[in-house]
Amino acid sequence: MHRAAFAELGLEGFSYQLLPVPPELFEETVRALPAAGFVGANVTLPHKQAALALADEASPAALAIGAANTLSFAADGRIYAENTDAPALIASLPLAAAGASAVVLGAGGTARSAIWALRAAGAAVAVWNRTPERARELAATLGVSAVDRVQSADLLCNCTTVGLGPSWAAPKDILQSLALDTDLLSTYACVVDFVYGGRASSLLAIARGLGVRTVDGLTILCEQGALSFELWTGLSAPRSVMARAAAEA
Ligand code: NAP
Repeated sequence: MHRAAFAELGLEGFSYQLLPVPPELFEETVRALPAAGFVGANVTLPHKQAALALADEASPAALAIGAANTLSFAADGRIYAENTDAPALIASLPLAAAGASAVVLGAGGTARSAIWALRAAGAAVAVWNRTPERARELAATLGVSAVDRVQSADLLCNCTTVGLGPSWAAPKDILQSLALDTDLLSTYACVVDFVYGGRASSLLAIARGLGVRTVDGLTILCEQGALSFELWTGLSAPRSVMARAAAEA
C-alpha cells in the first residue's frame, strides 16, 4: 500500500521494503537505516517494545502503550517513535469514542493499544479475556475495569486472535470462544475486529447479519499505514489508493 501511495503522489525517490530482522540484530539494523537513505520504518512484532526503547524521543501514545510501530529518522540522526495503531482505531470508528462505552476482548499487545486509544479518546472501557488474570492486570495498568462476563456496550472490539485461520469457520465456535451469543452481539452499535486475512472475519459476518455496523482489521491496518506515511512524507496519504492496494495484496 505504501508503494501504491508513492506512485499515486509521484514520489519517485521513495520505496518501501520488507526487512526481516532477528531480535538480536534489531537495534544495529535500525541504527544503520538513516545512513542507507531511509527516512523511517514500520515495526511489527516482536520488535515494537525494542523500537520504543532505542528511540531518542517518543510520542505520549507510544510511551503510554509501551510500544512503537513507526520510527522516523531526523536529519540530525535522532530517532522518533510513534504508535499509529492507537489513533488508527479511533479514526476508523463510525461513532464518536468520547462518551461511548466499549468492551475490549483480549489482553495482548493489540488490546493494550486499543484500550489506551479508547480511554484517551474519552470512552469508558471494560476488558474481558479468556485468561481473566491477564485482563485484570492490564485493566489495572491502564486504569479501566476488567469484567468476567462480556456485557453490552456501544462498541465491541475483538483484539484476540480468535477468528484467524480456517479452523474458525464455525460461527458457534467463535462466539463461544469470545463469551458472546447472537442476542448480546446484536446489542452493540458497532463491532470492530482487528483480525484480518484473505477472507472476511467470521465475527464481523455474524455481526453484519444481525444488522450491526462493523469495522474490519484491514481498515485499521490501512489507517495506521496512512498515518505513518504522513509522518514520513509530510503529505496527506491517498487512503483510497492504499486501501485498494492492501485489499488486492
Ligand atoms: P496476542 O498478544 O498473542 O494476544 C492474543 C489474545 O487472544 C490473548 O488475549 C489471548 O487470550 C486471546 N486468545 C487466543 N486464542 C484464544 C482462544 N482460542 N479463545 C479465546 N481467546 C484467545 O496477539 P496480538 O498481537 O494482541 O494480536 C491480536 C490480533 O490482532 C491478531 O489477530 C493480529 O493479527 C491482530 N492485529 C491486527 C492489526 C491491524 O492493524 N488490523 C494490528 C495488530 C494486530 P489469553 O490471554 O487467554 O491467551
